This record gives sequence, structure tokens and C-alpha cells, in this order.
Amino acid sequence: MSLSVAACSAVSGGAAAAFLPRIAERLAVPRGTPPRSACAHCDTPFPDWVRAGAACPCTAAPLWTVLAGALASGILGATIGPSPLLLVLLPATVLGLLLAMIDLRCLRLPDPLVGALAAGTVLPLAAGALLAGEPGRLGRAVVAAVLAGTAYAILALLPGDGLGLGDVKLATVLGFVLGFAGWPAVAAGLAAPHLINGPVAVVLLVTRRAGRRTALPLGPALLAGAVLGLALTA
Ligand SMILES: [Zn+2]
Repeated sequence: MSLSVAACSAVSGGAAAAFLPRIAERLAVPRGTPPRSACAHCDTPFPDWVRAGAACPCTAAPLWTVLAGALASGILGATIGPSPLLLVLLPATVLGLLLAMIDLRCLRLPDPLVGALAAGTVLPLAAGALLAGEPGRLGRAVVAAVLAGTAYAILALLPGDGLGLGDVKLATVLGFVLGFAGWPAVAAGLAAPHLINGPVAVVLLVTRRAGRRTALPLGPALLAGAVLGLALTA
């Protein structure tokens, strides 16, 4: 484990995360609704997309967001170490955190952001595998993406699960990234979201913060699971 790489990754991830709250606040709107142009709490207009710190002066400093960004990036830096893969994963982690923030607020994973995550991971990883003369690695990633996408598409078709098409698309992209890392990463990365969301659902039920019909976003668990899958098998 490289402490300096872990520290640099954590600092960059935490710093980048500090700029996400305003973007998340603007994009966390129901499907088909234009991005929010003013604060939902105090109606202060949002002239810009990016602001360091809280989304609006009326909201609290985004400590949890910065911590989550630093933790996810630090874990990846510590376990994967200095490599081209880490250079692809660090910006993807920031984008993933933005997706998680939006999903937690409005149960949506906007297509343009999932598309950006796909472009920012699939293209460089595929190019890297071909340049390194490892087409087998690319093939494994494609097979893992198809398997993950198919499995989640079947889950989405089951009645009453609350799983959306956005989850299916995100799982497909994450399947590719995990497949690029290896089959153990695919297995761990796709099992972990359910091990994360299961206890969360139980706690929410027991503390009566959610009912049996409350939809729980799967995106944050899918993303956290992918980080764990990559870290545990690196
Ligand atoms: Zn406000």
C-alpha cells in the first residue's frame, strides 16, 4: 500500500467533492423538469453551476460529501496504487459521488451523467487494454458488463422491486469497470450493494424512517459496492 498515493487520492477526491453540492442541488429534480435555478429552501437564485462548499449559503457545509469523496478516493488510491487504472477511477469516483447525491435526493440517475461515467471509464480502459496488447482484458470487461446489465434488467422487470432503468445502465457501466479489474472484483462488486442496502433498509424500517413500500435508491450502494469490489480484489 502506498501511503502517499492514498493521501493524494483522498485529498483530491475530498477537494473535488466540495464542489459537487451546487451541481447536485440543481440536477436533483423530477424527470422532465429543467435543472433548478434557485435554492429549494430560500429561493436564492443560482447563477452558477459550481460553488465551493454548501449548495446555498442557507444550507450546512457538505462535510459528509467531502468525507465520502475523500474516503472512496483514498481507498482506491491505497489499494490500486499508482497506475493508469487509478487515473481513470479518480475522476469517475467524483462523477459517481455526484450520481449518488442525486439518486439519494430524487431517486434518479440522470442519463447524461451515467453516459459521462461510461465515456470516462469505458473509452480509456478499452484503449489502454488494446495499447497494452491485452484484448482478453477488454473482452472480459465487455462480458461482465453484459452479465451485470442483464442481471439488473431482469431484477428491474420483477414487480415491486423499485429498481429503475437508471440502475440497470449504471450496473452495466460498473460491470465493465469491475470486469476490467477481474472476475473476483465483478463478484464482490455486484454482491456488495445488496449487503449494503439490506442492513440500511432494516435500520430505516426499525427506526420507522421508512415503510415497507418506501423506495430505497440503489445507485449509491451500486457505486459503493464497486469501490469495495475494486479495493478488496486489487
Ligand atoms: Zn438557500
